[in-house]
Amino acid sequence: MLKGIAASSGIAIAKVYKLQQPVLNIEKKECDSAAEVAKFQAALVKTQADIEAVKAKAEGKLSEEELAIFDAHLMMANDPELSGQIEEMIKNESCNAEFATETVANMMISMFESMDNDYFKERAADVKDVTFRLKCNIVGAVIPDLTTINEEVVIVAEDLTPSDTAQLNKQFTLGFATATGGRTSHSAIMARSLEIPAVVGCAGIMEQASQGDLLILDAVEGQVILNPTPEQVKEYEAKAEAFKAEKEALKVLKDAKSVTTDGHEVELAGNIGTPKDVEGVLNNGGEGVGLYRTEFLYMDSELDFPSEDEQFEAYKAVLEGMGGKKVVVRTLDIGGDKKLPYFTFPEEMNPFLGYRAIRLCLDRTDIFRTQLRALIRASVYGKLCIMFPMIATLDEFRQAKALFEEEKAKLVSEGVAVSDHIEVGMMVEIPAAAVLADQFAKEADFFSIGTNDLIQYSMAADRMSEKVSYLYQPLNPSILRLVKVTIDGAHKEGKWVGMCGEMAGDELAAPVLLGLGLDEFSMSASSILRTRKMIRSLSKQEMEVMAEKALQCGNIKEVTELVKNSLK
Ligand code: PEP
Ligand code: MG
Repeated sequence: MLKGIAASSGIAIAKVYKLQQPVLNIEKKECDSAAEVAKFQAALVKTQADIEAVKAKAEGKLSEEELAIFDAHLMMANDPELSGQIEEMIKNESCNAEFATETVANMMISMFESMDNDYFKERAADVKDVTFRLKCNIVGAVIPDLTTINEEVVIVAEDLTPSDTAQLNKQFTLGFATATGGRTSHSAIMARSLEIPAVVGCAGIMEQASQGDLLILDAVEGQVILNPTPEQVKEYEAKAEAFKAEKEALKVLKDAKSVTTDGHEVELAGNIGTPKDVEGVLNNGGEGVGLYRTEFLYMDSELDFPSEDEQFEAYKAVLEGMGGKKVVVRTLDIGGDKKLPYFTFPEEMNPFLGYRAIRLCLDRTDIFRTQLRALIRASVYGKLCIMFPMIATLDEFRQAKALFEEEKAKLVSEGVAVSDHIEVGMMVEIPAAAVLADQFAKEADFFSIGTNDLIQYSMAADRMSEKVSYLYQPLNPSILRLVKVTIDGAHKEGKWVGMCGEMAGDELAAPVLLGLGLDEFSMSASSILRTRKMIRSLSKQEMEVMAEKALQCGNIKEVTELVKNSLK
């Protein structure tokens, strides 16, 4: 058994198709440069045609965004800068075309790889992909054609390029396992959108797997079993059936409403950390983004705070990507366990109780104003809601909102287009704010309950400490009462309440939250359809009765029993 990373969920059992790319041993040779230039140009034309062909095969299988990878490849293959440099080297050094191609390609790859920017790092992979094809065409090496696979297989490879992945025929390719790669590598992203199970980063697989071996790909747990016993095969056949049946059944709910048996509708949204995560939310039937944790934008930046324009681009991408569906963006929540490489935090005994989130932003208004401006500028691209993290007092909320209004007015006076419908709300994750929700609700447009922090502060139990993790008790009646006070306080003022902490996607908590009147549940994309299925099986009225009883319980054990009985 080999361990890896589950990049695209599912289970497959099939024979190994080991993808061996041709090994090109390229050496410098002295040649007639005119003949080599001609050879190079012919190979370039074939390469362009090959990419066109791969793109044509992928059309209909991949999203517009993924197909754009091939346009990028075509652009590269048509780039006069690339071909010009190669031809120049052939002429200047009277060398062979494949050597010149490799030399120029390696220069470009190391230039892109050394750049401190994910976008350019990904371009290095594109140069590798295109120039490998080019070199094969020059020397007449055949790149394995994955489209010719005509029996059920699991592909095993060192890594898969975007063009490899696009060629996969879902009928015969039941999954793939690669030796390299992570959850966000190109091939992993493609596997998720093609919905092919994949395990990546499976070290040793190329050495251990042989062509035709039987293989179990467990892309739920992130592992691969080579040459399994008949018992293991039986066990995994049953698992695969159950997985498939559940997934199929859930798919029909992608565009369904999240509505209870007695007609009460709630909203199921996704939590995201980067613009790339939008796709997963939409693919899983997310009705909006309920929490965009913008701090990742700051944490990914290595030398300084991200500029207003960099932030604007990210916020715009998310708003546009969601196509008019609601997007709740949380302003910078840094501090606690989240540090920045370019910013020195004060030494504190209890960083989670210290200088973090809105506290830091109200102190360093320069940082905060930049983010607000970027958000307000992006507001015209979709339905933007902004919320402030870690609000403890009404005064903090007022100060933050005043800064927002100031920046908005400035942008308007500068002639910048801004939306008139930006909602400004807050996270309820400090018990003081929950208890006083009715007062906050007079001024905030909405609440989103952050139970990860609300529970840590209510129970006085550090969320990072293993020793006290038993105190993370979403179903504790004390937490349920705080949630109720928050929801009731908002509803009294006609405001909506969401929840973006882990509790919202918890199978036992969701029925109680429904009963308490929560309007929006925001969770990781992969939990959305499962939660929708549950909501659609429940009666709001019955959950209200159950939630009332839960509020009167003494501990989580009683609440858990109550919920389980109500689900029977
Ligand atoms: C929360 O506290 O519940 C929350 C959603 O925010 P974070 O987990 O980012 O602190
Ligand atoms: Mg929080």
